[in-house]
Amino acid sequence: MTTSIDRSAVQAPQSVWEMAQQQLDDVARLIGLSEGIHLFLRVPKRVLEVSVPVRMDDGRIRIYTGYRVQHNMSRGPSKGGIRFHPDVTLDEVKALAMWMTWKCALVNIPFGGAKGGVICDPKAMSMQELENLTRRFTTEISIIIGPEKDIPAPDVYTTPQIMAWIMDTYSMQKGYSIPGVVTGKPIAIGGSLGRDKATARGCLYVVDEAMQTMKLPIEGARVAIQGFGNAGMHAATLMAERGYRIVAVSDSRGGVINAKGLDVRGIVAHKQETGSVVGFAGGDAITNKELLECDCDVLVPAALEKVITAQNAPKIRAKVVAEAANGPTLPEADAILHERGIMVLPDILANAGGVTVSYFEWVQDLQENFWEEDEINARLKQKMTRAFRETHEQAERHGVDMRTGAYAVAVERVAEATKLRGLYP
Ligand code: GLU
Repeated sequence: MTTSIDRSAVQAPQSVWEMAQQQLDDVARLIGLSEGIHLFLRVPKRVLEVSVPVRMDDGRIRIYTGYRVQHNMSRGPSKGGIRFHPDVTLDEVKALAMWMTWKCALVNIPFGGAKGGVICDPKAMSMQELENLTRRFTTEISIIIGPEKDIPAPDVYTTPQIMAWIMDTYSMQKGYSIPGVVTGKPIAIGGSLGRDKATARGCLYVVDEAMQTMKLPIEGARVAIQGFGNAGMHAATLMAERGYRIVAVSDSRGGVINAKGLDVRGIVAHKQETGSVVGFAGGDAITNKELLECDCDVLVPAALEKVITAQNAPKIRAKVVAEAANGPTLPEADAILHERGIMVLPDILANAGGVTVSYFEWVQDLQENFWEEDEINARLKQKMTRAFRETHEQAERHGVDMRTGAYAVAVERVAEATKLRGLYP
């Protein structure tokens, strides 16, 4: 059995998986995690790769590759979204699954971490092709998912409609309706009020906390958001309602900027009409790269991994970076931002609102008893502000950045559960 960690591979992180492992290694040293538990948490519990045959509209069969990775189940069934994207890799899904373990532990919901992904380009597929892909992928992973085992949810380019197909496919195979097998469903089939905006709302709550902690005014604070999907678009809307000034937004095709503030409703309508924020008349065009370095108080990376690097970290002008995306900041960039006094709200905190309301959705499904939206938002706020304070406390205590503080809280919780359960057999 291997009893030590090969550090040669983690000196210069190349993949997000190595980056995720390095983040764990750093905190393991800080909190004095026992070596056995460290090694156990450093690898996924279970990895499933599936080939997914799909009948395309032209009658031909295509084979897609998909994954479901379960990182840890010490604190409960594993939980995490499914991503449909051309750049999905097994390494990425492993990293995302590990991050789900920490995220669920940080907001203290009784789940472990998992993630799924299919290598595909959903933008180039018809609804029928997407449905065929989703149903066959669900069937292939149905041997390891279930409401008491592992509960998928939306992630990049997967929608409530896709969750409905997952729920239906799983239910048809079992012979009765099982809404608790997946979260992020439409309301009509057991979805939760507030789930659509939950990631963004949770992000808003922790940005509010950060601004108060740093004694920065909220009213008029300038916000730049990279990514205009579920997280980015709702963050723009909710933050504008709260009094922040949204000065720049972007999506995969490019962005727009207006130092006086963008008309968020106008941009949402433009995106719905044209499929992109690009070309919106109320601002000037910018690239995604420029957005990250633009003059703002709060930067919200809400797209994909590894966008904040050692190259652009010295040029970031925001005082707070809120990671609505998973894994947007490389470890070397983390160090630069911390040194420059910029507070990074790590992904496992800043975007934990999504999985928190997923937990509420699962609880409501199991109880067959549904809550009002006010109650959901109030419970979400309580969980997010508590997680912020616990993270901040640990960061202060150890004199480290907020990511390390958040990891200290989360890894301790998972380690405690692991110790209590003991090693089987
Ligand atoms: N995909 C989201 C995340 O990365 C949500 C996961 C969930 O709701 O289970 O946190």
